[in-house]
Amino acid sequence: MKRRVLVTGGAGFLGSHLCARLLKQECEVLCVDNFFTGMRRNIEPLLGEPAFEVMRHDVTFPLYVEVDEIYNLACPASPIHYQRDPIQTTKTSVLGAINMLGLAKRLHARILQASTSEVYGDPDVHPQTEDYCGIVNIAGPRACYDEAKRCTETLFYDYRRQHRLDIRVARIFNTYGPNMHPQDGRVVSSFIVQALRGEPITVFGTGMQTRSFCYVDDLIDGLTRLMNAPADVEGSVNLGNPTEMTMCELAELIISLTGSRSRLEFRPLPQDDPRQRRPDISRARELLHWAPVVSVNEGLSRTIAYFDNLLSDPREADKL
Ligand code: NAD
Ligand code: UDP
Ligand code: UDP
Repeated sequence: MKRRVLVTGGAGFLGSHLCARLLKQECEVLCVDNFFTGMRRNIEPLLGEPAFEVMRHDVTFPLYVEVDEIYNLACPASPIHYQRDPIQTTKTSVLGAINMLGLAKRLHARILQASTSEVYGDPDVHPQTEDYCGIVNIAGPRACYDEAKRCTETLFYDYRRQHRLDIRVARIFNTYGPNMHPQDGRVVSSFIVQALRGEPITVFGTGMQTRSFCYVDDLIDGLTRLMNAPADVEGSVNLGNPTEMTMCELAELIISLTGSRSRLEFRPLPQDDPRQRRPDISRARELLHWAPVVSVNEGLSRTIAYFDNLLSDPREADKL
């Protein structure tokens, strides 16, 4: 019997790669998505697969299906998307988690939550380990995402303690690659699209803030390893690439890889923008024998090729 796997947010950036990977692993995949930020284009190549099924559904409402495993990814992830309707963002994270945990409880299914490095907020410990509690502004514009993700983690730990659910919590750090939404305002997609079009590269603040970027294939490998780890995994696991860089360094690298003539243009720094971020992945190395293998140069080159192709398609370019 094939494993039946539910992926919420399956038409999004990470979800579409996860669905493809699970199909390769001979699973039956049920992709549930309300298409708020997901794109049909991301899952189009999978639609012909007999083991793939798509359901348009909002996870803030109960869901009654029969599956063996659940990956809960449904939630807008880019600041411009999650800040567009912050109340809905909190509802998606928290009510979505309650419904998926209720589903997992009824089915005795293992469930994995896509949490985030944003639970560390603007950290004063560097690099971030899982036992660091973070500094999050409860009232700022990022709180709808950060606090809801923190609350979701708490729900997962409590369902484990109270109902003995088999849970997995991945704290995902900045990830990039093909299938990112070209207009989601995230730094990698924005810089690449700007460089390919010869437009100014919009660097926020001084550009000296740092992030650590993980290529999507590595991240998906980490997620499936975490789900399949045989032992009970208590607590969360950081998944990300520890190679840290400033936003100016990222901009220069993308300019050089695209051969663009774009210049940097400095814009105001958004409120509560974290100054530095880098995962400590010792726990993932130890528990999952996992570490990223795709270099930033290689990963960016593949992502640039994806966006180059997208921009040369007149139907897609018109939408940008
Ligand atoms: P994305 O916006 O591309 O994908 C999110 C998907 O969830 C979209 O397809 C969207 O339509 C769907 N969705 C949103 N609200 C929904 C709802 N109420 N019901 C059903 N579906 C809904 O984002 P992504 O980058 O693929 O992120 C996926 C998950 O991983 C998110 O939970 C995000 O918080 C987490 N994450 C991502 C990153 C990253 O760098 N990409 C980092 C940390 C955490
Ligand atoms: N739920 C769901 N699908 C299921 C089982 C439960 O969507 O197959 C939802 C249900 O709507 C409930 C939530 O999950 O609100 C939490 O379920 P749980 O059993 O933990 O709580 P209770 O139903 O006791 O409030
Ligand atoms: N950023 C930038 N220019 C952009 C978009 C983002 O300089 O056009 C910066 C942003 O201020 C932040 C970093 O890039 O410091 C990463 O932003 P992103 O929204 O991709 O992720 P997050 O802030 O959620 O880590």
